[in-house]
Amino acid sequence: MTADPANRVLARIDSMREEMVATLAEAVSIRSVNPTYPDQDYDDLVGGETEVSRLLARLYRQAGAETELFGEVPGRDNVVGVVRGSGGGRSLIFNGHVDVVPADDSVQWAHDPFTAFIDETHVWGRGSADMKSGLIAQAFAARALTETGTRLRGDLILQGVVGEENLEHHLGTSAVLGRGFTADAAIIAEPTGADRPLTVMPATPGVLIMRIAVTGRSGHASMRSRMRAQMVADEHAADPVAASAIDAALRIHDGLRRLEAEWVESRTDPLFDKGQFTIGLNVVDGAAHGSRNVAFIPDRTTLEYAIFYPPATGVPEIRSEIVHTVRDIVRQDAWLRVNPPRIDWPMHYPGGRTDRDHPLCRTVRAAREQAALGTSFAGPGDVLPFPSASDLTWFTAVGIPAVGLGPGAHVMAHAVDERCAIDEMVGAAKAYAVAAIEWCGAA
Ligand SMILES: [Zn+2]
Repeated sequence: MTADPANRVLARIDSMREEMVATLAEAVSIRSVNPTYPDQDYDDLVGGETEVSRLLARLYRQAGAETELFGEVPGRDNVVGVVRGSGGGRSLIFNGHVDVVPADDSVQWAHDPFTAFIDETHVWGRGSADMKSGLIAQAFAARALTETGTRLRGDLILQGVVGEENLEHHLGTSAVLGRGFTADAAIIAEPTGADRPLTVMPATPGVLIMRIAVTGRSGHASMRSRMRAQMVADEHAADPVAASAIDAALRIHDGLRRLEAEWVESRTDPLFDKGQFTIGLNVVDGAAHGSRNVAFIPDRTTLEYAIFYPPATGVPEIRSEIVHTVRDIVRQDAWLRVNPPRIDWPMHYPGGRTDRDHPLCRTVRAAREQAALGTSFAGPGDVLPFPSASDLTWFTAVGIPAVGLGPGAHVMAHAVDERCAIDEMVGAAKAYAVAAIEWCGAA
């Protein structure tokens, strides 16, 4: 590639700035809240996602794409646009989700979350960062390529998908890939700004939810001294006058905390900081007879953990290590040996990764650097993993290398006063266009 086509495209994107802002404002004003998100009214919200998909279809057609809308369920349409390459190049997917999280805390917002507010530097509103700015930057990148006569060799496949915010990849990204819209690589437009804007995120951790239910034996609170004496003497420890389910649960938790500390050395991945894989106790629920009464020794306790594990490690290995840790504690515990805890795994979201030195990652990093020239975030982009679940998983799971790169700060996602810097949206569009030229080749 010569520098000329890229420079023409970058200039074209600069000239589209106002139109991009107006289009983002239009997209933010569509209330595409995920209808299955907790505490939402499905019938009231369903259809919003399709409306955003229609808006994107219009943009994709302007980019010369063959466009298709389709959904797995009524009112929740994905959109795909295919800009055919001239042949002989690698194909590339631009992916983003059209759904947003609710803004039920709208009274706390400075501006109505579903009426875009535009100031000198930012577009405000729910979805402005997560991730309508990214979707619009991708569409405008494709349009700038087409309008400057930059014909790619490989196909460019634009995807706007539903359901991501509630982990419904089977309705969104996986459905789109299953319909045959695959490619040699993918760039996901999640807001990846961390310390600096437009960080390249080539990995997502595995996320596992674990619930441990522990039973005890209730009794009046005043029996605790007898209960303790029996435990200490190990006399009647298996058949005590009472047994605190909370105490027993915390004995298990002690073991899991030790395992978590071991993970700093034993569970690592070069794309993640040391200590990023964790076993976090985030919900504790325990009392006697299911009521919260401090006058009784608790007979049931549930511990719920969010576990983040390395994407290259299989989940059976992780589950088995945790189960063995719990079993070791149970085996040495007179009460738990006779009253073993129950372990459930209510949710699992596998991780995914693309090597830092993979050609896609290198291409996107170089594109980001070129796109950021002359901006306040000039320089090479940082490379960091996504902090939590992302659609990257579903690409790498089917062998498509993928990275995240998108406008907006990660902390703005799901936040009150969500907003996206306009410079970052323009910068992202440039990075997408340059990456496409480099990856797909220009005819
Ligand atoms: Zn998102």
